[in-house]
Amino acid sequence: MAATGTDARGADRRRPPISFELFPPRTDAVAPVLNRTIDLLAEVDPAFMSVTFGAGGSSRDRSLGVLRHLLEHTEVEPMAHLTCVGSSHAEANRLVREFLDAGITSFLALRGDPPAGAEPDVELGDLGSAAELVQLIHRVQEEREPFGQVGLPGLPGATRIGDRRRPERVAVAAFPTGHPRSRAPEQDIDALLAKEVAGANLAITQLFWRADDYLGFVERARAGGVTIPILPGIMPVTTPARLARLTELTGVEPPAELSIDLEIEPDADAQAEVGVSYAARLAADVLDDGAPGLHLYTFNRHEAVLDLLDRLGLGTHERLVTERNTTR
Ligand code: FAD
Repeated sequence: MAATGTDARGADRRRPPISFELFPPRTDAVAPVLNRTIDLLAEVDPAFMSVTFGAGGSSRDRSLGVLRHLLEHTEVEPMAHLTCVGSSHAEANRLVREFLDAGITSFLALRGDPPAGAEPDVELGDLGSAAELVQLIHRVQEEREPFGQVGLPGLPGATRIGDRRRPERVAVAAFPTGHPRSRAPEQDIDALLAKEVAGANLAITQLFWRADDYLGFVERARAGGVTIPILPGIMPVTTPARLARLTELTGVEPPAELSIDLEIEPDADAQAEVGVSYAARLAADVLDDGAPGLHLYTFNRHEAVLDLLDRLGLGTHERLVTERNTTR
C-alpha cells in the first residue's frame, strides 16, 4: 500500500478510495458536534460520505440536513441512504424526487426493515425490495430530466438530444455472512445480482469480522455473475457495550477473541486499542487481497476511524504528500 503517483490535484492515485458512514444527529444540540466530525473526516479526502435513513422515513429531515451540510460546506460527495419499506409507490417517488431536487446524486438504496410486529403485506409498502428502489431512483431521475440538449461542435445554435443524466452512484447493501433471513448463501448472491440488474453500480457490505467472510463472498458473487465493485464495510468497535449492540442490530456474531479482549481491558484507551488494531488488521487483509476501497462505519466519531487509517498509512492527504516529498 505504498503511496505513489499523483494526479492533477496532487492526490495519490494508488490510494484505495475511503468512504465513511454517518447517521443524522438525534437532536439539534449535537448537530455542531457532527459538523466538526465531518470536517475532520473530510481531511482524508474521502470518495463519499453516506448518511443513514430511518426506515419509515423517521429521520428524513435530519438526514437531508446532514447531506445538505456536506454539499454546501465540504467537497465530499454526499450519499443518501434511502429506504422504501412501508412506502407507497407515490411516497417513494416523492422521496427520491425531493433528494434529487436537493442536489443529491448518489444513493444507497435499501428496502429497510419493517417495524417489529408489522403485518406482512399491510405495512411493508409497495416496493418489495431494494432492487425496486434502485429502478425507481433511475426512473425518477429520467422523468426529471427526460433528455438534454447538447450543442453540436462547429454548428452554432445546433443541438442534438444528449445522453440521459444518470445518478452518479446507486449503491446497494450486500451481506457477506448472509442476510438474517437467508436460508442459503446462494440467496445472498442472487439478491445482490438482482440489485445489479436493476441498475446498482456499487455494493457496500454489512460489517463482518473475518477477512475470509468478505473474500469468500466476493468470490462467490463473481462466480454468480455480479460485476459491480463490492466495498467492504468495516467498523472499529471500541467498547464491549457497542459490540453487544451491534451484534443485536446486525445479527453478525463477533469472534470470541474480540469480545473477550474488549471485556478484559480495564480502561477506555486499552479497549480502543483492541478495537482499532483488530479493524486495522481486517482492513489491511481485505485490501491486500484486492478490496476496491474501505467503507468505514464511524458511529459519528472521528477518532477510531482516523486512527485506523493512520495505521494503514492512509491518513490525511497532506500527510501522504509530506511523506512522499520527504522520500524523494
Ligand atoms: P433487500 O435486499 O431488498 O431485502 C429485503 C427483504 O428481503 C429483507 O428484509 C428480507 O426479508 C428479504 N431478504 C433479503 N436478503 C435475503 C436473503 N438472502 N434471503 C432471504 N431473504 C432475504 N437500514 C435502515 O433502515 N437505514 C439505513 O440507512 C440502513 N443502511 C444500511 C447500510 C448498509 C451498508 C447495510 C448493509 C444495511 C443497512 N440497513 C439500513 C439495514 C437494511 O435495511 C436491512 O439489512 C434490511 O433487512 C435489508 O435491506 P436491503 O436493502 O438489503 O433489502
